Amino acid sequence: MTGKADGGLRAALARPTPTFSFEFFPPKTEAGGRALWDAIRRIEPLAPDFVSITYGAGGTSRDRTVEVIERVAAETTLRPVAHLTAVGHSAGELRRVIGQYADAGVRDVLAVRGDPPGDPRGVWSAHPQGFTHAYELVELIRSLGDFTIGVAAFPERHPRSPDWDSDIRHFVAKCRAGADYAITQMFFDVEDYLRLRDRVTAAGCDTPIIPEIMPATDVRQISRFAQLSGCAFPEDLAHALETARDDPAAGHRIGVEYATAMAERLLAEGAPGLHYITLNRSTAAMDIHRNIAPSWTAHPSGAGRGAVPA
Ligand code: FAD
Repeated sequence: MTGKADGGLRAALARPTPTFSFEFFPPKTEAGGRALWDAIRRIEPLAPDFVSITYGAGGTSRDRTVEVIERVAAETTLRPVAHLTAVGHSAGELRRVIGQYADAGVRDVLAVRGDPPGDPRGVWSAHPQGFTHAYELVELIRSLGDFTIGVAAFPERHPRSPDWDSDIRHFVAKCRAGADYAITQMFFDVEDYLRLRDRVTAAGCDTPIIPEIMPATDVRQISRFAQLSGCAFPEDLAHALETARDDPAAGHRIGVEYATAMAERLLAEGAPGLHYITLNRSTAAMDIHRNIAPSWTAHPSGAGRGAVPA
């Protein structure tokens, strides 16, 4: 049994078998809200270890994120992980949002710094009474009670990091500030994830790093995301998707196949879980999850995952 019925996310992370989870974003419109809840209801029977809800770029969707988190906590069997970004908020405002999460019974927060509003690559400036780096947000959450805290990891290095040494040093410091686990930025080359994990291990840090799986089914959308996040988009996948530009079914098949192969390799390499980006649509993520059922039972932990719904 997973979801919120079983002893918490920390217990799930300590289990020898991998976790699986899904990411949603707070919708901007009524139709978007319906699509989100349709996706959540389809995913609910899979009993994932958690579902995470993002916090709008530049700290813009605070109310909508809190609303979705409260509703998932109150009306579903799912364990919600609330993203929280430091950008644009004073420490006092951040404390209040964490209090709202706690009031809703939510003790799982993914603490990220956020990017400048409008232009993620623009000049970063901290709120005068706020924070400059994610580790400060981790320290704040840690000081406010018994939360399970996630942080962000970057298989291709954070775009603002001048070199790998500083990137790993700061990542490890963020983990030591009180993170229980990390989730990666999307990536399309498993070697990037493995190299990151090796670097973090070599730095003496054993915080579990859960890879994020992005089903790349639409060339237009993926090019935009890759540009925004700075992640490399493989030419062969780009070419395959380009040929399916006007054929959504073919795009779906290509994206699901590519992500399935990545997910299988990641599990074979001992990844501690898989976190699927849904873009508030459940189908591609669920298809990948079903495809990898056999790999789940062959995880290097040696323990079978058990039932993965067909
Ligand atoms: P940090 O850990 O602060 O790192 C940012 C940069 O500062 C890095 O280059 C790091 O090496 C450097 N650094 C860290 N500490 C120090 C220090 N002490 N001294 C000097 N340099 C330092 N954005 C949203 O707006 N909403 C979301 O919900 C959201 N969810 C995300 C979920 C995941 C899994 C990931 C991977 C990213 C998410 N993001 C989200 C994006 C994230 O906010 C940006 O990528 C942001 O640029 C980095 O956040 P961080 O928490 O890694 O920052």
